Amino acid sequence: MRKKEVKNCNSCLMPLNLDLGTSGSHIYCSLCFTEGEFIYKGNDINEFKSLCYKGMRERGINKWLAKFYTFLISFAPRWRKSKLHKNEQ
Ligand SMILES: [Zn+2]
Repeated sequence: MRKKEVKNCNSCLMPLNLDLGTSGSHIYCSLCFTEGEFIYKGNDINEFKSLCYKGMRERGINKWLAKFYTFLISFAPRWRKSKLHKNEQ
């Protein structure tokens, strides 16, 4: 079986080859994950999205592009899973 290569962060979907930091993880970027744990530990995708949006704007990313990337976060594996967990609570 071929090992699946992860190309995008499993939390925010940022392409990992654009990640300038080191997360210590091969499935999460350094903006989401550092030193063995998530930077945002909550389970609220809307809160996470607004943090990401702010972070992108601080890095000088165009407003519309930042909105688009923020929208894509909904499709990241981390949040797809948490949707299922919500039904169990
Ligand atoms: Zn990320």
